[in-house]
Amino acid sequence: MEYKLIRSRRKTLGLEISKGEVIVRAPLRCPLREIERFVESREGWIRPRLAASISQTEAAAASHLSAEEIASLKQEARAFFAGRCEYFAALLGVEYALVTVRCQKTRWGSCSRKGGLSFNCLLMLAPREVADSVVVHELCHLRHFDHSPAFYADVLSIMPDYREREAWLKKEGRTLLLRAT
Ligand SMILES: [Zn+2]
Repeated sequence: MEYKLIRSRRKTLGLEISKGEVIVRAPLRCPLREIERFVESREGWIRPRLAASISQTEAAAASHLSAEEIASLKQEARAFFAGRCEYFAALLGVEYALVTVRCQKTRWGSCSRKGGLSFNCLLMLAPREVADSVVVHELCHLRHFDHSPAFYADVLSIMPDYREREAWLKKEGRTLLLRAT
């Protein structure tokens, strides 16, 4: 069985499966045959976990969007967010400077102190109501630069079911973010 050996100043042998790879951690002077014996004795534990890890890693890679797909999502997102920002900004009575679209792995939107709004194009893969909720969230930051009760009062005033939309994003959003490359 193939594995990656990492020696360090530890006292015992350790085993780990990560991203489709078996990793063995061993003390600096531990003889190789002892390590081999250790790995052999754990084969029953390793095999099923390794298989699961490999298929998970492959699934994650397969779900990555191609450059063309991202470009087309961005194009769609630019038109969508420009329109929705205009619509909700009028309802809220706020003014923004600029709307940009990015493909990000970690965040859905942001708002700068200069009034620049930025949105993740992966929101185009979420329900429209969810993308709208991010628009409202960022627009309300033009008035409150925090997540204070006053901020949420503004959000809820024009989107009473905001919490449900936010919950969707928290639950399902992680898989969407994994599709960024
Ligand atoms: Zn926020």
